[in-house]
Amino acid sequence: MDRSLLSAGDLALRPGRGLRAPWLLEALAEEAGSSGAAPLAADTETDVAIVGGGYTGLWTALQLTERSPDLRVTVVEADICGGGASGRNGGFVNAWWDEIGTLVSLFGPDGARAAAEASAESVHAIGAWCATHGVDAHFRTGGMLTVSTTPQHDRRVVGGAALARELGSPGALDELTPDEVTAICRSPRFRAGELMADAATVHPARLARGLRRVALERGVMIHERTRLTSIGETGGPRVALALESPVGSFRLRAGQVVLAMNAWMAAWRPFRRSLLAWSSYLVRSEPIPDRVADELGWTSGTSIVDARASVHYLHVTREGRIAFGAGGGRPGLGGRIGPSFTDDVAAAQRAAFGFRWFFPTLADVRLTDAWGGPIDVSPDHLPRFGTLPGGRVHYGFGYSGNGVGPSHLGGRILAALALESDEPVTRLPIVRPVSRRMPPEPLRYVGARIMREAMIRREDTEEAGHRAPWWLRQLTAVPRRLGYRLGPEA
Ligand SMILES: Cc1cc2nc3c(=O)[nH]c(=O)nc-3n(C[C@H](O)[C@H](O)[C@H](O)COP(=O)(O)OP(=O)(O)OC[C@H]3O[C@@H](n4cnc5c(N)ncnc54)[C@H](O)[C@@H]3O)c2cc1C
Repeated sequence: MDRSLLSAGDLALRPGRGLRAPWLLEALAEEAGSSGAAPLAADTETDVAIVGGGYTGLWTALQLTERSPDLRVTVVEADICGGGASGRNGGFVNAWWDEIGTLVSLFGPDGARAAAEASAESVHAIGAWCATHGVDAHFRTGGMLTVSTTPQHDRRVVGGAALARELGSPGALDELTPDEVTAICRSPRFRAGELMADAATVHPARLARGLRRVALERGVMIHERTRLTSIGETGGPRVALALESPVGSFRLRAGQVVLAMNAWMAAWRPFRRSLLAWSSYLVRSEPIPDRVADELGWTSGTSIVDARASVHYLHVTREGRIAFGAGGGRPGLGGRIGPSFTDDVAAAQRAAFGFRWFFPTLADVRLTDAWGGPIDVSPDHLPRFGTLPGGRVHYGFGYSGNGVGPSHLGGRILAALALESDEPVTRLPIVRPVSRRMPPEPLRYVGARIMREAMIRREDTEEAGHRAPWWLRQLTAVPRRLGYRLGPEA
């Protein structure tokens, strides 16, 4: 990373001032005294308890109440709804067509098609749901462009479109020439690309808080600032959850339990070897709608990612800000979500560098905010849903930084699992345990740190127009050789 591209303002960016991402502060400011989600204050019972008040938990709650209006559904959230990744993300609402190669190799053509089509349905269902419920989450369809920024990555944007065509979905992905990419957004770094039609953008926290509002209106009991501390016997007719809130320790007895704790699941025993908690960071520019239109020609609402494993991801918000994120944050030891997930100045500067590097004509534009959050990385970069032995505790996690759209599908799956209903969504190939376990700690943490440094070094070298040295290419290929779909493709 060439730090000379960073302005004094960029170097002064401090993520983590206070806990909240700016998206969430904006959404909360418009709620004006919203209530109805008091911490748990007594032992209680419910039919379905959902742990985690992000998209996954809230979509599950909404699905359950839609399908079974008399069911008692209770959501417990350690922070406030949207306090986790759902109020902090990059706002991309994506289908899985861009993962089609991985899907086919894991699940075969039929499983891949079914999963990709279900994920695409969710993208459009989220927009329709917002319209029906008066949730102004700034939902905008415009597709998602994956763009190569260096000759070394050109081949990473080739092949998906042909595969989607073979599976009978000719319009799902399109290969774009450099000129066609430029017609979407002008950057001197952009080369060829691949456009996925089924993709949109949202204001993340407005969506999360909108889900909360509608869930409350539907009679879902929500207890914010209420943390799960342990899960009791899971085999009997009721599962006892031990919970802590600012007013004490309580028990919630539930017929069914849904665990929707995203990266926090990595610290819980049944899931420790199934995911890795990892950080990602974003910066946001001041509003520059005219310059985005005039200098970049970026008016289509298309979100953009590059082809790096330590991905850059960017979209234009309704006010004409550019939200610019950078993956390649840091792993958490033993699944602990500590300050490196919110206060990592170097990670925020990587995102700022990406912005400066992509858009040299915007060198004078101020980056006003920086923030980070946790991502639940699964061994094959796809989420998993399922049920623990005993049959009453269901789980969903592993979106790997791509959960805004898929969590809607997750809600459908988890609601069906909690209702013990066998249906097409519960037969999708993502409803099964991960096929490859993560190494145990501390090997996992140490390995992830080494791989992260190597991956960033390799991709920075490639982005600077050089071929990475042989030993570095070999090192970064290790995860894929071991069967994980993590790190750079060849
Ligand atoms: C910086 C960043 C950028 C991202 N960008 C994108 C993007 O552009 N597009 C995309 O598709 N995805 C993106 N993601 C990922 C996406 O945000 C997530 O996949 C999605 O929000 C997952 O929703 P969730 O409900 O599963 O998790 P969360 O929203 O994290 O919800 C989990 C909740 O569980 C709560 N919790 C944890 N432990 C406990 C406990 N013991 N008791 C009670 N509650 C608990 C947490 O407080 C949290 O609110 C990004 C993530 C980050 C961090």
